[in-house]
Amino acid sequence: MQKLGKNHGRYHGETIEIDQVLREVDRAAIQHGWSAETFLTADSFELKAYHRNSPAAIHNLYLSSGIHGDEPAGPLALLQMLQENRWPDLNLWLVPCVNPMGFRRNTRENADGVDLNRDYRHRTAAEVKAHVVWLQRQPRFDLTLILHEDWESNGFYVYELNPNKKRSLAEDIIAAVQELCPIESAPLVDNWECRGGIIRPQVDPQERPQWAESVYLIVNKSEQSYTLETPSDFPLSTRVQAQVAAVTRAISILTQR
Ligand SMILES: [Zn+2]
Repeated sequence: MQKLGKNHGRYHGETIEIDQVLREVDRAAIQHGWSAETFLTADSFELKAYHRNSPAAIHNLYLSSGIHGDEPAGPLALLQMLQENRWPDLNLWLVPCVNPMGFRRNTRENADGVDLNRDYRHRTAAEVKAHVVWLQRQPRFDLTLILHEDWESNGFYVYELNPNKKRSLAEDIIAAVQELCPIESAPLVDNWECRGGIIRPQVDPQERPQWAESVYLIVNKSEQSYTLETPSDFPLSTRVQAQVAAVTRAISILTQR
């Protein structure tokens, strides 16, 4: 599978109508018994979270996407999974998009130029402040899966945060994705050592001046966290299926614990 060769200096691939996608997310979630909560109402957009308990479930899973507005595969993957409604026994929390203004402008940042995924330590943006207030009201999660894309990469890769040394899901995620999409082979990605598409950052969060959502979650809310990165110079449909496969494999292993 070849790269499309479109991404020069930034993402130049297919875009989505985020407001339409989020209306479809809302419709599918409500149809399948999720509860919806609006956690931020701003002048021109609102942010929503969804939740559904399963009576037999013993694990809590949190899914999020749409924090960078030039990364459309994540919201589409979560929409597809909501529509297909084939979840195993899990208590589920889902935030499909915290950066609708970024998607409307096809920018990584929000309308004020803030990279929301660097804002979770000191929290300056309204979107992140409201998201954290919502997160603080939720129980602890056994697993958090965060869907991202990388416009520069040559293949899929995953960041693992696993401070309590739970059984790693990274190899299983890579195995599920490699049937559908190239895996990043570079030894260094964003200055992190990357082996077989797996990055395991060994850094104390307290020493990092800026926190991504995943770092906030691992410090405050979650046992284990994976950030799934699809390579956005490949067709959007390939990236969506890669995300769906990664999430599906990870949660199927979680429910067997
Ligand atoms: Zn991203």
